Amino acid sequence: MRIYLDHNATTPLRAEVIEAMIPCLREGFGNPSSTHAEGAAARAGVDHAREQVAAAVGAEVGEVIFTAGATEANNTVLFGMAGAGPRGGSAAHVVTTTVEHPSVREPCALLAEEGVRVTEVAVDSAGRLDLGAFAAAVAQPGTAIASVIWANNETGVLQDVARLAEIAHAQRVPLHVDATQALGKIPIDLGAVPADFLSVSAHKLNGPKGVGCLVVRGGRALPPRLAGGPQEQRRRGGTENTAAIVGFGVACELAREEVAARGKHCAALRDRLWEAIRAQIPDVRRNGSAEHVLPNTLNVEFRGAAGEILLQALDLEGVAASAGAACHSGAISPSHVLTAMGRTPEEARSALRLSVGHGNDEAQIDRAVGLLGKLVFPAREATAT
Ligand code: PMP
Repeated sequence: MRIYLDHNATTPLRAEVIEAMIPCLREGFGNPSSTHAEGAAARAGVDHAREQVAAAVGAEVGEVIFTAGATEANNTVLFGMAGAGPRGGSAAHVVTTTVEHPSVREPCALLAEEGVRVTEVAVDSAGRLDLGAFAAAVAQPGTAIASVIWANNETGVLQDVARLAEIAHAQRVPLHVDATQALGKIPIDLGAVPADFLSVSAHKLNGPKGVGCLVVRGGRALPPRLAGGPQEQRRRGGTENTAAIVGFGVACELAREEVAARGKHCAALRDRLWEAIRAQIPDVRRNGSAEHVLPNTLNVEFRGAAGEILLQALDLEGVAASAGAACHSGAISPSHVLTAMGRTPEEARSALRLSVGHGNDEAQIDRAVGLLGKLVFPAREATAT
């Protein structure tokens, strides 16, 4: 039996999600925009899912715009808000951070090429944002949007998004939060964290891939990224991916019911993993805040061992983990998240991300630690030669 410790890359579908999706795929083929019975049935499925998603994040039902995942949601906000332009005559300004996912970083880089000013606010060695620098950045004239990752995909480090919303709003700057890694792992309530936009993705919480949503609060104007139809209140053209949306809804409902229990289960496994690694393997260091962190994520530096070598050895022994973000794998460039936290490129290359989730148990954790203990020394030797 393989041991899957890469839940921040993606997660297995829950049986309840599959069960809900199958009838949509078999019989529920109607187009939700059609007015006949087949269309109405599909529409009902999408409507119900929208209620489930809204309830999971504390939003109004009409604020949920289904997308093809968080990458699309992030692109929609950044290009839409920065492209809308400032009111003051100067070039538009976008505030973001040095530890964002590529689906925020790369749109920001494209905006910068188009002349938009982009400020990346730095983090400290624990991966936490410098709030003073954030306040100074959003105070710059022409700031159209601030975009911050809630829970980092590589380290699991959490930002104080409630405080960031307060700081941004004091300057009348809207805040976008990429909550892709947070949903299902920690409670999310837009009543308590008044972000203006929120991006999430179903496949990080045991739902299907290729579906997610952008939450647009309070009817705020935002041009569609995909023009071409009346769907999603004209905010996102294209026939809805109904089966995936229904699966997303069920995944959100399960997450809402189970988030506290999941947090406990994952934190116990994650702590067991770290305690055993620290006790059994010399020259290891945990990356990122141990206090402000997702319950399921452990990022560890195995000093002197190249992450990709260790990862491959683990894979051959039946353990799936990640070195840096999965989106970067294949390219051996050191993680921008870890280097932003002050790690050297060599240190960053020696980091492994271990992320637990549904289906993991103590026996798996113990077996994974045993294998790590066995494989780290040859990996260090292979790295040195
Ligand atoms: N943001 C974060 C923080 C992520 O971890 C990911 C997925 N790796 C994304 C955005 C992109 O999500 P999707 O796969 O749905 O496009």
